[in-house]
Amino acid sequence: MHRIASLLFTGLLAFDAMSVRAAEAVAEVRLYAIDCGLLQFKDLTPFADTGEYDGKPGNLAAPCFLIRHPKGNLLWDTGLGDKIAAAKDGVDVENGALHLSQKTTLIDQLKSIGVTPADVSYVAFSHFHFDHTGNAGEFTGSTWIVNKAEVATAQQNPPPYGFDPGIAALVAKAKTQPIDGDYDVFGDGSVKILKTPGHTPGHQVLEVKLKKSGVVILSGDLYHTLANRQFRRVPIFNTERADTLASIDRVEKIVTNTHARFVVQHSAEDFARLPKLPAYLN
Ligand SMILES: [Zn+2]
Repeated sequence: MHRIASLLFTGLLAFDAMSVRAAEAVAEVRLYAIDCGLLQFKDLTPFADTGEYDGKPGNLAAPCFLIRHPKGNLLWDTGLGDKIAAAKDGVDVENGALHLSQKTTLIDQLKSIGVTPADVSYVAFSHFHFDHTGNAGEFTGSTWIVNKAEVATAQQNPPPYGFDPGIAALVAKAKTQPIDGDYDVFGDGSVKILKTPGHTPGHQVLEVKLKKSGVVILSGDLYHTLANRQFRRVPIFNTERADTLASIDRVEKIVTNTHARFVVQHSAEDFARLPKLPAYLN
């Protein structure tokens, strides 16, 4: 009797430890928007090659997104980085031209919804600019779905302007699933990475199909502001203007055809319209 009881007890303990370790599986796809920082520019000039922002200041949000799927979890972009969150008032970079800040760490926000880095099965990046890769080093145990052209660009020495100088080394360390174009993450069409080059050579956007909310498209840096979307403006520092416009053309047709909700990731207004943690879109 005693032995059975102790076996049972051991079994229960093991079960308990497991339920603490692994986030409970979800029954349907969920999209969580996470605040991963704020960029405050003294001068937004580089964000349009046609002069509209010349000399004007402005702020850009830097969100991360967690997509929970019955078959696993995908983290889309990893923000400014929890090192920025550690500095209470943020940090100045580029000789004070840009101020970076983050209120709470990504890790703590994930924890608030019962998710640890070990629960993140996949990580994918819209592109490798530093404000989208900040916490990447926390997720080297996940499978990274990476665009080959983006990886090749990050491997240049030195990497182009805006690229995270540490990302190529992390890609080399992580388990990767290299891709050339569109990619169906869970194999059921509900979460798709779409090839949209132009901002960078391997830039991509994310299309998520939700039961109640319908199709949601996360922009990456296809646009940085709502006005840039409205007026099809192209930043000065994009790799290729013509590719950018072709990508815009493709995505806007998909938005029309799927009646999608389009989220400009860097728009604080768009971010404010999304549910706040622990709430989510489903
Ligand atoms: Zn960018």
